[in-house]
Amino acid sequence: MKKPVLVSACLAGIYCSYNGSYNTTESVVELVRRGEAIPFCPEVHGGLPTPRPPCELNADGRVVDNTGADRTEQFLRGAEEGLKLAKLAGCSEAILKARSPSCGKDVIYDGTFTSTRVRGNGVFADLLLKNGITVHTEEIPPSK
Ligand code: SF4
Repeated sequence: MKKPVLVSACLAGIYCSYNGSYNTTESVVELVRRGEAIPFCPEVHGGLPTPRPPCELNADGRVVDNTGADRTEQFLRGAEEGLKLAKLAGCSEAILKARSPSCGKDVIYDGTFTSTRVRGNGVFADLLLKNGITVHTEEIPPSK
């Protein structure tokens, strides 16, 4: 049996985005509908509410929200829970939300809340990559 893909829950239309909205992406919804994907939100599973203040990842590895509160612990906890789920389900691939401080791959915001992009991975994407899981984004999905 084909192993499922782990996907950012917000891409599947689940209510978990920081601003209380949705990032619904029809191709991801379709994977879930077919039983080929498992939705997961590392920030919510790390203990943060929806909606919540936006967070950004700093160069020193700390995650801070726009009120100055340090959310590193919640981000790390959520990433660990997501890795646990990925291993449990045998996922070797993930499709995650681009530029998120948790889910972004290759490009994220720089921690200044000025919409400045830098090279880097979100906390969750980085942990999956370090554990051998291939990470795509909804903007550059896996080729069929
Ligand atoms: S942490 Fe990931 S799954 Fe959760 S809302 Fe942000 S981008 Fe979506």
